[in-house]
Amino acid sequence: MSRPKTATIAVRTGIESDTQHHAVVPPIYLSTNFGFPAFGEVPKYDYTRSGNPNRGLLEQALSELESGAGAVVTNCGTSALNLWVSAFLGPDDLIIAPHDCYGGTYRLFNTRAQKGDFNVLFVDQSDTQALNLALEQKPKLVLLETPSNPLVRVVDIAQVCEKAHQAGAKVAVDNTFLTPIFQKPLELGADFVIHSTTKYINGHSDVIGGVIITKNEKDSEDLAWWGNCIGATGTPFDSYMTLRGIRTLAARMRVHEDSANHILAYLRSQSLVGKIYHPSLPEHPGHEIAKKQQSGFGSMLSFEFSGSFEQLKYFVGELQLFSLAESLGGVESLICHPASMTHRAMGEEALEKAGVSQQLLRLSVGLEDADDLINDLEQAFNKAKELHR
Ligand SMILES: *Cc1c(COP(=O)(O)O)cnc(C)c1O
Repeated sequence: MSRPKTATIAVRTGIESDTQHHAVVPPIYLSTNFGFPAFGEVPKYDYTRSGNPNRGLLEQALSELESGAGAVVTNCGTSALNLWVSAFLGPDDLIIAPHDCYGGTYRLFNTRAQKGDFNVLFVDQSDTQALNLALEQKPKLVLLETPSNPLVRVVDIAQVCEKAHQAGAKVAVDNTFLTPIFQKPLELGADFVIHSTTKYINGHSDVIGGVIITKNEKDSEDLAWWGNCIGATGTPFDSYMTLRGIRTLAARMRVHEDSANHILAYLRSQSLVGKIYHPSLPEHPGHEIAKKQQSGFGSMLSFEFSGSFEQLKYFVGELQLFSLAESLGGVESLICHPASMTHRAMGEEALEKAGVSQQLLRLSVGLEDADDLINDLEQAFNKAKELHR
């Protein structure tokens, strides 16, 4: 059989693997410990922090989906990022991260750098000159987040990887926004892929989790060692749930994106909407790169609300089908005001530098009927318009 495609890997990993009762769906092993078959004979799994069958299956699925050599599943996306820097950076080492990265990533790297654990430079990675200057400082690691959060900026993964490798750095891509269904960073030259599996991968907003997938086996062995050492690994129940979520990943991503396209077309005709940020738009600066390196544009989008701030708050409050909440990538649609929610830890100066204005709203387009979502936006915009009449 030829190499299975992503949807097949997502659905089939671990199916019919139970040798005891031939359960079609792999059973859950909540046990914290596993017996030694005989004195001195170390089993595959001995203690769940270091390894567990459910986490093992999830790691296998994610590694195969991303075309990796191995993976370590962690208890959240942040701990995947923390595990990565803990394993590879010392006090004299430098990491380059996007200036508009996920707020929690910014807080983690910034705080640990202030403690002297390593050095960090936050760079606008779509600015070639700024990136080249940063690479001259010989970083050990480079983190990319493409598309970025919340402005969905796109950077050329293959190009940055080539330059970073010349400078002696290894590259990780935070692929949370697109998943392997729409983007495969390891195939574009990256050394690591990181996910908050909390988002699209699990997809049902009911499990916090993360993963690092590696291009080479040695890195995954090192990360597994460190994951056990610092206690960053994911639980059996979370792993079971996340693999269950992955079964429908390919189908979900298609509908997410299709609905996002309908909503984008609607937003373009709406007078209270200013600039729209989504890589599918021809005027988006990363459109051509996105077309080259992604197999889909994804369903995260942002826009500037062009009415008053009072109207913005009123609009958000009148929405029925977009919950005002952080996170993203679940079946339910969400609206977020990054400056006061996901990105508030950045502080005003960093927000401004990253281009995150008070007027910016971010949508995570869910799996409700697209017409219902558009009707909901329309009624809320209409109410906001009446506010100043
Ligand atoms: C949510 C998120 C994270 C952090 O993951 P948690 O599971 O919340 O710890 C990292 N990067 C991106 C892009 C995210 O959206």
